Amino acid sequence: MSAALEVVTLGTGSPLPDPNRAGPSTLVRAGGATLLVDAGRGVLMRMAAAATGAPQLGAVLVTHLHSDHLTDLNDLITTRWVMSFGPPSPLRVAGPPGIRGVVDGLLASLAPDVSYRLAHHADLTSPPAVEVTEHSDGPVLELDDVSVTAAPTDHRPAAPSVAYRIERDGHAVVIAGDTIPCEGLDRLCAGADVLVHTVVRDDLIRSLPVARLHDVCDYHSTVAQAAQTAARAGVETLVLTHCVPAVAPGAEEEWLALARAEFPGEVVLAADLSSVPAG
Ligand SMILES: [Zn+2]
Ligand SMILES: [Zn+2]
Repeated sequence: MSAALEVVTLGTGSPLPDPNRAGPSTLVRAGGATLLVDAGRGVLMRMAAAATGAPQLGAVLVTHLHSDHLTDLNDLITTRWVMSFGPPSPLRVAGPPGIRGVVDGLLASLAPDVSYRLAHHADLTSPPAVEVTEHSDGPVLELDDVSVTAAPTDHRPAAPSVAYRIERDGHAVVIAGDTIPCEGLDRLCAGADVLVHTVVRDDLIRSLPVARLHDVCDYHSTVAQAAQTAARAGVETLVLTHCVPAVAPGAEEEWLALARAEFPGEVVLAADLSSVPAG
């Protein structure tokens, strides 16, 4: 892979369990750095399929604190800890304000497991280390020649929420997470190569006889809205993920056409483990 950046959509599902789609998570390979955005259901299985693992992660970037986006963060913390054999290597976790409390809670829930392993393994001498930072807007971290920036999104009442822009060698990818169109995302996306965006089909959701599902439309972008965001920002490639409802077999072209009506660039309807190069 010679691209400046590579996006791998590890999990393209939603909160609804799906036999073929893991929960929301996206891997970004950037030279020697590997970054993970969100840690949904099955993230470590999909990372194994992408030939990487928890010890290789430079950082985990969390877009917001909905459970579908971080339900397997505990698995990352534990697996990083027990599978790292050199000196302690803290897992860097960045997220919106509130992520520190979530990580503290996970570590508390892991206390029995941690005590068993510390008692059992002579070469394991300290508990899992997690370095947590909280961000709303602006620089998040620098890793080798890679820089990560956050900007606020609008996923209320799941607030605060952020999107991430990952840049290397003059190229950029943006992982939007769940959001309605907003100024922060527009700003972050400007001129990016790739935008990965959660999308919903309000036309399909509103035809379902389940009121709670209709609420999904309140705080997500439709396919058209995500495509309009991509068009305003002048990105090259729009990647549709976290589709609600799940894309029915044979309906792929219908989803793509909704995006192409609003956006002149390339549109990818992501499956788990789709790879999209940038630069
Ligand atoms: Zn959400
Ligand atoms: Zn979500």
